[in-house]
Amino acid sequence: MTTEPGDRAWVLHHYPYGDTSLIVELFTRTQGRLGVLAKGARRARSALARIEAGRPLWVRWLGRGELPVLAQAEELGPFLPLNPLQNLSLFYVNELLLRLTQRRDPFPDLFQVYEETIGALRSEPGEGWYLRRFERRLLENLGWAPDLARCVECGRSPDAASSERWLYQAARGVFCPAHASDAAVPIEAAALAWLRGAMQTRNTPVWNSSLRRCLEQELLIHLGGRPLESRRLLTAYLRRTQPAMTIQKREEHSE
Ligand SMILES: [Zn+2]
Repeated sequence: MTTEPGDRAWVLHHYPYGDTSLIVELFTRTQGRLGVLAKGARRARSALARIEAGRPLWVRWLGRGELPVLAQAEELGPFLPLNPLQNLSLFYVNELLLRLTQRRDPFPDLFQVYEETIGALRSEPGEGWYLRRFERRLLENLGWAPDLARCVECGRSPDAASSERWLYQAARGVFCPAHASDAAVPIEAAALAWLRGAMQTRNTPVWNSSLRRCLEQELLIHLGGRPLESRRLLTAYLRRTQPAMTIQKREEHSE
């Protein structure tokens, strides 16, 4: 079998295979999503026993087929435990990659955004802006991100300095206030500008709800209308742990 040179990777998901092994879905820098067979990984003394989501790894595998064998998985740093909200956010981005990307379809730029997202969910738990950035970058990498630069009907551009409310329609694009569509989600012109930009800093909190709804509707089209399990769990978690929050506040949260 061929030994691949190795790659930086994160575990997206794993499930048992046989009595002692695991099938592991990885997100790698050069291969994109990669399924591997981790032989004996469920044995307590296996060197592969501690592979789990949220840990940066250096991996090597054998073979080029549909399910190569994981030969090495070395942790690239100490593992710091995640709290439940961080874990649910991690589950969410992992589930998006599992549902929307194909194995061996490389997205090196998205890999970098993924790593930045893991860093942000550790340093700013409870914030949603980096999840919006991940969603938008995922859509862009898959070629599914609508043009936000001009109104679908008249070509006018949203002015980031204005207080105008535009409309966002999934799979179509944005509409200026003069060309409103009933099916669209209202969104601030300045929020559209944020979404078109580098998204390196958090958005204005008042945009949270519209940003979340626009991206959710866009993603749902590609999820075939089948919602994400992680999103359901995240919503339930926020209801349980923050019952005193107003609806508005909850909508501004990261779910
Ligand atoms: Zn227009």
